[in-house]
Amino acid sequence: MPTNFTINRDRLLDTFLTLVQIDSPSGEEEAIARHLADRLIALGLAVHHDNAGNLIARTDSSGEPLLLNAHMDTVGQDRGIRPIVENGIVRTDGTTILGGDDKSGVAIILEVLQTMRERGLPYPPLEIALTVSEEIGLLGSKALDMSQFQARQALVLDSGGPIENVVVSAPSQDVLHAVIHGKAAHAGVIPEEGINAIVVAAEAITHMPLGRIDEETTANIGLISGGTAINIVPDRAELHGEARSRNENKLVAQVQAMTRALEEAAARHGAGVEIKVTHSFSAYTLDEDSPLVQRVIRAAERLGLTPSLVTSGGGSDANVFNAGGLAALVLSTGMKDVHTPQETIAVEDMVRSAELVLNIVQ
Ligand SMILES: [Zn+2]
Repeated sequence: MPTNFTINRDRLLDTFLTLVQIDSPSGEEEAIARHLADRLIALGLAVHHDNAGNLIARTDSSGEPLLLNAHMDTVGQDRGIRPIVENGIVRTDGTTILGGDDKSGVAIILEVLQTMRERGLPYPPLEIALTVSEEIGLLGSKALDMSQFQARQALVLDSGGPIENVVVSAPSQDVLHAVIHGKAAHAGVIPEEGINAIVVAAEAITHMPLGRIDEETTANIGLISGGTAINIVPDRAELHGEARSRNENKLVAQVQAMTRALEEAAARHGAGVEIKVTHSFSAYTLDEDSPLVQRVIRAAERLGLTPSLVTSGGGSDANVFNAGGLAALVLSTGMKDVHTPQETIAVEDMVRSAELVLNIVQ
């Protein structure tokens, strides 16, 4: 019976602590990839790196495999992470992130393999994709050659919240970059000859719908820069923002509204504006009766969990797998307050997540 498999709590914790102490900000995953390749080979899997630095592994069992995914990089530039375990909770001293996003996902995949291995039973057919640079725009998964996978279904271990939460839907994201060209002038002598690019930017932003637009649509201006000195009318201002929606038409309308606000503000002041919109990733929604969702629900129920199907506002490698033809959903590892120095994870949550994954793959 699948539930006879017990996750080794101490070993899982030890793996997790080892992984978070191997620095891996996005773009610097070589060391952790080497470490993980060695461990996967020792577990009897065939392993290779692709050109982007992603680590791909497979068991040699026949049949349609299930793909397991987590990302190897951690957000930002934090290095030298020193985890502290207290009362079953892992955290840092508060000066860095913990990197449970997504080292918890990687550790859970390793523990699931190790648990099966020590039982001496053959592995089920599995493909493993441990990606790079997820945090800077899903770059690793976007570089994956999807045709190398025999799997049609994927579990992405990269979410927080209760272990019962199964993310079956996530939005598309468009990224907006705008440069406003005004006209420089001496601010004290002839300001009337200048065109203040910062004022144009400010006016455009106040005319944009931003924040929560509706239940499935959001928008943000996240970065702004411009100007060179207090006594110069600024001739340049630059904005970076984004819009997300699970509905493509709403996303298009939202980006148009942001673009229009920029063009109209520029026109009112006689400024120029260059706008670049890039489609970053695409939305997905899996039906409750899809085979993968049903498989996860049945496994959760065998463990006495009551799964709840949820939507996410964030993107993940699951967006890329779904766009590439694999049905992918995201499971929680129990990670909390990720992308902040207050990040924590409960060891018990990682154990329960590993039990769930084990039950799904068996
Ligand atoms: Zn993540």
